[in-house]
Amino acid sequence: MSDCIFCKIAAGEIPCNKVYEDDDVLAFHDIRPLAPVHFLIIPKLHVASLAECGPEHEALLGRIMGLVPRLAAEQGLAAGFKTGINTGHGGGQEVFHLHVHVFGHKG
Ligand code: AMP
Ligand code: ZN
Repeated sequence: MSDCIFCKIAAGEIPCNKVYEDDDVLAFHDIRPLAPVHFLIIPKLHVASLAECGPEHEALLGRIMGLVPRLAAEQGLAAGFKTGINTGHGGGQEVFHLHVHVFGHKG
């Protein structure tokens, strides 16, 4: 999607503070953190929101959720963390490219 900011980040056209990357998934620190540690995990594939996900996205969603504990540990969130997926205008979503928020603090 040419007008999607997270697609541009995934394509390397807009810089990010990267946490993790593989062929299908990218994670980067939120530009306006709401916690001492706040990063986002996105699929490189453009999917507007969780509401647009179907059975064909289950493997991708599983990959993203499976990365959460690993990346949280790597970011030092030993005490635990909070995750969130805002979905749709009613769910407070502002960027319409699926992303999982991970919030926490080190130690
Ligand atoms: P949401 O309300 O779930 O759509 O949240 C979108 C999140 O993306 C917000 O927490 C923003 O601070 C974050 N965000 C927007 N643009 C960028 C960017 N260029 N780099 C990193 N995070 C961003
Ligand atoms: Zn996108």
